[in-house]
Amino acid sequence: MINPFETAKAQLDKAAATANLDSDLIERLKVPDRYVEVSIPVVMDNGEQKIFTGFRSQHNNARGPYKGGIRFHPEVSLDEVRALSFWMTFKNAVVGVPFGGGKGGVVFDPKKVSPAELEKISRGYIQKISRLIGPELDVPAPDVNTNSQIMDWMVDEYAKLTRNKNAPACFTGKSLGNGGSEGRQEATGFGGGIVLREVLAKNLIQARGKTIAIQGFGNVGQFIAEAVANLGWKIVALSDSKGGVYNEAGLNLTEAEAHKKQTGALKDLSGSANITNAELLELGVDVLIPAALENVLTAENAGRVKAPLIFEMANGPTTTEADEIFQNSGKIVIPDILANSGGVGTSYFEWYQNMHGEHWPREQVLDKLKSLMIQAFADVFTVHKKYQTSFRSAAYILAAERLAEAGS
Ligand code: NAD
Repeated sequence: MINPFETAKAQLDKAAATANLDSDLIERLKVPDRYVEVSIPVVMDNGEQKIFTGFRSQHNNARGPYKGGIRFHPEVSLDEVRALSFWMTFKNAVVGVPFGGGKGGVVFDPKKVSPAELEKISRGYIQKISRLIGPELDVPAPDVNTNSQIMDWMVDEYAKLTRNKNAPACFTGKSLGNGGSEGRQEATGFGGGIVLREVLAKNLIQARGKTIAIQGFGNVGQFIAEAVANLGWKIVALSDSKGGVYNEAGLNLTEAEAHKKQTGALKDLSGSANITNAELLELGVDVLIPAALENVLTAENAGRVKAPLIFEMANGPTTTEADEIFQNSGKIVIPDILANSGGVGTSYFEWYQNMHGEHWPREQVLDKLKSLMIQAFADVFTVHKKYQTSFRSAAYILAAERLAEAGS
């Protein structure tokens, strides 16, 4: 079993060695400020009580309130949540927003509960952590299997429990009617598209067919797919948890979205061949975009990955060993803490609007996000050149320097 928290710490160690970063700082950054495990008793629809386990990890707040999503998944674990909170600290420093890092999760499969049970679990989680969060303390958001509806339930529960008049500012990724920001839904994918455009403009790879394969077709996968299609690149493969589809000539995104909506899965999309998630990762494409879960690129399959550019839209998709294999074979990896930072960039805009009683139009949000992403890539690129190091180490070095400045 690959432990994502160990992967995260190894990434930091590697960057620290490259730039000779202060060892005391690095040791401090390897431990979250605090984390909690909570029990959430819920009366299920059949009248029986079930107890769910939840976590919240607050990694570092030197640059601002802890910030990071809440994941609902059967494989959520304390180490996963700690790793995700650690990556949030670094991501927020890379993209330059005044937040620290946090993350939470509840261990269950949301596909196996009713809407009423889902609401009870969401509210129950907030009942257990309400005293640890707040607009200037810790600001959660959606992550895998959570969405604006769930954030709205959480805001409501938090408001009831704390009577905080600015309860919506305690969560981002809310619905528009409840203080959400225009542009937040597409932000992570849109931001990734901006970074990818900047990367491609540097001509770091020899693109043959301008082809892309994307693993994951949820919030991030769908919007990065739209963004790369707008760049004029061809998406030849897409997948979700039930499997993938492939068409050498390019997939039609509108048809793929409609098929997924109708059948609940991408597989059996007409005009394409079904493939497995494992096969998708090894296709002969120019760019591979993991946009589902962590640890999908490992020592076992990294040697068979053909794409010269791996663009990490998921958090932690590449293990330490796989990263080493990619580096030794001259592949370029654009790390998660840069590639997917558009989500939290826009979360910052949402929080700012809530704190100041403002509501910005979509164009304004996306324009600001564009500038943020272009700057983040330029800053990482400068460090990459300065130390002649990987983009991952460059992003860590940049973030660690900013965290040191903030007094971490
Ligand atoms: P989501 O729940 O909307 O979508 C997840 C997608 O992954 C779905 O299409 C699902 O079918 C697929 N998937 C699940 N298990 C899989 C498996 N074993 N193999 C292949 N596909 C699988 O989640 P999301 O918000 O799109 O998040 C995806 C990734 O992006 C996560 O790593 C998340 O932490 C990261 N991320 C999300 C945001 C955001 O704003 N939502 C921001 C930054 C990073």
